[in-house]
Amino acid sequence: MEKQTLSIIVPAYNEEETLALFVDEVNAQTLDLPLDKTFYFINDGSSDQTLDVIKSLSKKHSNIKYISFSRNFGKEAALLAGLRVATGDYVTVMDADLQDPPHMLNEMYAKILEGYDIVGTRRISRKDEPFIRSLFAKTFYKIINKISSTQMVDGARDYRLMTRQVVDSVLELPEHNRFSKGLFSWVGYDVTYLEYKNVERVAGKTSWSFWGLLHYSIDGIINFSDAPLSLATFIGLISFLISVLMSLFYTLKTLLWGEVVQGFPTLIILILMLGGLQLLSLGIIGKYLSKVFLETKQRPNYFIKEDNIEK
Ligand code: UDP
Ligand code: MG
Repeated sequence: MEKQTLSIIVPAYNEEETLALFVDEVNAQTLDLPLDKTFYFINDGSSDQTLDVIKSLSKKHSNIKYISFSRNFGKEAALLAGLRVATGDYVTVMDADLQDPPHMLNEMYAKILEGYDIVGTRRISRKDEPFIRSLFAKTFYKIINKISSTQMVDGARDYRLMTRQVVDSVLELPEHNRFSKGLFSWVGYDVTYLEYKNVERVAGKTSWSFWGLLHYSIDGIINFSDAPLSLATFIGLISFLISVLMSLFYTLKTLLWGEVVQGFPTLIILILMLGGLQLLSLGIIGKYLSKVFLETKQRPNYFIKEDNIEK
């Protein structure tokens, strides 16, 4: 029987220092894995020597394929490009910095053989992370799991092993704006998670800033829930009801005790509060509208400048 194949998708943005190490580590730690491996490196518009490193690696190893983007399109775009070209019976997605422990592939494959379709990984410690970042991440998962029917697991990484069937399903989702943590959950199938302790990057530095992450999580919420839209309606309804009650109250009061001019501060506060709530609601609606706007443009997620993938 022919050996089954594994595609390893690796988005790489300014990873010149890590890639050679990465390939060696993955090979060394998966010697017993009965799968033929192919690496797919996606150079996401790196400004350092990443592409040259990938090219020289691909001359050394015949199982290294690469795609190089015309500029930086972001990790989600790189993942999509990788999923589109990967031909393996099984597909995994790994970071280039060895923060996704390669030896776990063995356990993940064992789980696949048990019958799971997606084997994800979950970090159980965030101890090397700045406090504010973990607090923020925890809050994000709490909110999204409350308001969206698509469950997202706290600490879940993009590092996962999946069957061809799952990859094909994910590729059928046509949306341009891809929040893959949500997409992989949305498609369903039998999912299990393996847990591991956080590992530091081997070299280089993270390309995420706090604001980048904040933006990314708002994206996640907007893409997988319409609860914020209902929130606007809800706030509107409540303040309307309050205003009806208050007008009744003041009419009665005036009829009974006559009018005394008072409560100027209350008036200002109410104006400010309602004005603020209106702007907030408009902002929320605007967020969704901008998603629709971007989605209708149907722009491609990335442009490939060069690759070594035979069509
Ligand atoms: N990455 C990418 N495009 C980007 C940013 C990051 O392809 O615009 C890749 C990066 O090379 C790495 C992975 O995505 O392989 C995760 O990035 P990073 O290690 O910076 O994120 P962290 O592990 O801190 O979440
Ligand atoms: Mg990393």
